[in-house]
Amino acid sequence: MTRIGFGEDLHALDRAGDHLWLGGVRLPMPFAAVAHSDGDVLLHALADAIFGALAAGDLGEHFPDAAPENRGRASRDFLAAAAALMRARGYQIGNLDATVQLEKPRLSPHKTAIAASIAQLLGVAPAAVSVKAKTGEGLDAVGRGDAVRAQVAVLLIKS
Ligand code: MG
Repeated sequence: MTRIGFGEDLHALDRAGDHLWLGGVRLPMPFAAVAHSDGDVLLHALADAIFGALAAGDLGEHFPDAAPENRGRASRDFLAAAAALMRARGYQIGNLDATVQLEKPRLSPHKTAIAASIAQLLGVAPAAVSVKAKTGEGLDAVGRGDAVRAQVAVLLIKS
């Protein structure tokens, strides 16, 4: 038995910031994600993909952004909760495929570290995690440098 899930997330960028969390990796950047939590757009999309594969609602239902306990919270907590529900329902990660869109700087040099971080957070083999990087081609909010977007597809396998 397999189940497929998809997650997407978008965060605005604040040029007063100096770092961006992506996949649990803190990257020095000339901006930061505008967020209630640490703003890790990739972990948010991944947690949403896992909840989606389980037909278990979305990240906002599990962790309301109006809740004070979620302020400044590490997004790895969100992923851990999604993974715990996955395991409780008898599933494990088959593989996941992610794309992060950021106009600049290019994320290519960080893809391997980000994928390794996600594999470690989920306790899966590095070969089960794909992280791809794209720009916004100068178009839309990403292309203007105003936002970062992540999209994740995940396959769960009944363990
Ligand atoms: Mg988010």
